[in-house]
Amino acid sequence: ERLIVDLGERSYPIVIGEGVLQKTGALLLEAGISTSSKLLIVTDEHVAAHYLEPLRDVLAEAGYRTTASVIAAGEQSKSLAVYDRIMTEAIEAGLDRKSAILALGGGVVGDLAGFVAATYMRGIHFVQLPTTLLAHDSSVGGKVAINHPLGKNLIGAFHQPRVVIYDTSALRTLPKREVAAGFAEVVKHGLISDSAFVDWLEEHAQSLWELDSELLAQAISRGCAVKAAIVSNDETEQGQRALLNLGHTFGHAFEALSAYSVLNHGEAISIGMCLAAKVAERVGLADQGVYERTQRLLSLYHLPTGWPGDLTPEAVLDAMKRDKKTVGGKLALVLPRAIGHVEVVKDIDEAIILTVMREEVEA
Ligand code: NAD
Ligand code: ZN
Repeated sequence: ERLIVDLGERSYPIVIGEGVLQKTGALLLEAGISTSSKLLIVTDEHVAAHYLEPLRDVLAEAGYRTTASVIAAGEQSKSLAVYDRIMTEAIEAGLDRKSAILALGGGVVGDLAGFVAATYMRGIHFVQLPTTLLAHDSSVGGKVAINHPLGKNLIGAFHQPRVVIYDTSALRTLPKREVAAGFAEVVKHGLISDSAFVDWLEEHAQSLWELDSELLAQAISRGCAVKAAIVSNDETEQGQRALLNLGHTFGHAFEALSAYSVLNHGEAISIGMCLAAKVAERVGLADQGVYERTQRLLSLYHLPTGWPGDLTPEAVLDAMKRDKKTVGGKLALVLPRAIGHVEVVKDIDEAIILTVMREEVEA
C-alpha cells in the first residue's frame, strides 16, 4: 500500500505493508538517495536488538555504506545532550551533504534523528522507518524536535522525509503499553475529521487490539491519510494543521511535569483528549455525550482517561501556557464540536479549564 504526501516538489510516498523493510534499498534509490555517500541509521537499544542488523544487511546488498547510532530507549533521549552526541558521531563518520539519516524506531527516534537531519550541514536527506503504531503519526508531516526541561518539543524544525517505509510486521514485538499509546493517535485522527473511522474503531476494537494484520494495516493507512491530507494543506501550521493537536496542550503539560517518565505520549494525550471534550461540553461547544463516547473509545484501547496522579491543576495550567500553541500568553485549545469535528478555540476562560481539572482531581 502506498500513500502520497502531496507537498509539491517535496512530496513523498508512505509505503505500508508486511515486510517492506526488505525493500529499503530499492526505495532509497527510488527516492534519489545516492550510494556514494554514507548513511547514518539512528535507532534505540530495543529496536536495534530486533531490526538493526537485518536493515544494515539489506542496505549493504543495495550498495549503501552505513554507520549506526544506538541511543537509550525513552523520551529522555529527545535531549540536547543526545542530539550533540549524534552530531559528533555523524561528523566523525564523515557524513556529507548527500548523506541521509535514517530513523529506525518510534517517535522518539524519529523526532530526534529528524532534528539532526534538519540541522546537520543545514539539512540533509531524512528517511523514516517507523516501528511503533504511534509513529504512523510522528513519521508523517515533517515536524522534528527535541525537548527542553521546561517544555516538550520546544527546539525543533520542519524537515520532511524523502520516504516513509512502514513495515507492519515490526509491530509484533511492540509491548502492549506502546500499542495502546499508538491507538491514542489513531483515535485522535478519527475524532478530528472522520466520524465513520471512529465508528469503525469502536466496532473492531477487539481485533485491532489483538493486532489483526489486515485491520491494523487499514487503521494505519486511514490514520496516515487523515494526517497527510491536513499536512498537504498546511505544512507549517498556519491554520488547519493545529487541529492535529487535539489533546496535546494538556498532554504536553502532563509529559513535561512528570519529567517525561510517568506517562508516555499516547497516555498523556488520551487524558488530554478527555479533558478537551469535558471543557468543550462545559463551554457549550459540544453536545452532551461527546466526552462519554471519547472516554469509552479510549478505554476500549486500554488507555488511561482519568487525572494523572499527583499533578496539581495549577501547575498543569502553567505548563500549558508554556506550550507552543500559546501566542502572547493566551491559551488556544483544540476542542471537539462533535465526534469527527474539532476546532481551535481562542481565549477560553482559564477559570473554566481550572474548574474542569479540579473536578477531575476529585473524581
Ligand atoms: P518511542 O519511540 O519511545 O517508542 C516506545 C517504546 O517502544 C520504546 O521503548 C522503544 O524502544 C520501543 N519500541 C519501538 N519499536 C519497537 C518494536 N517494533 N518492538 C519492540 N519495541 C519497540 O515512543 P513513540 O510512542 O513511538 O513516540 C513518542 C514520541 O513521538 C513523543 O516524543 C512524541 O512527542 C512524538 N510525536 C511526534 C509527532 C510528530 O509529528 N513529530 C507526532 C506524534 C508524536
Ligand atoms: Zn501526538
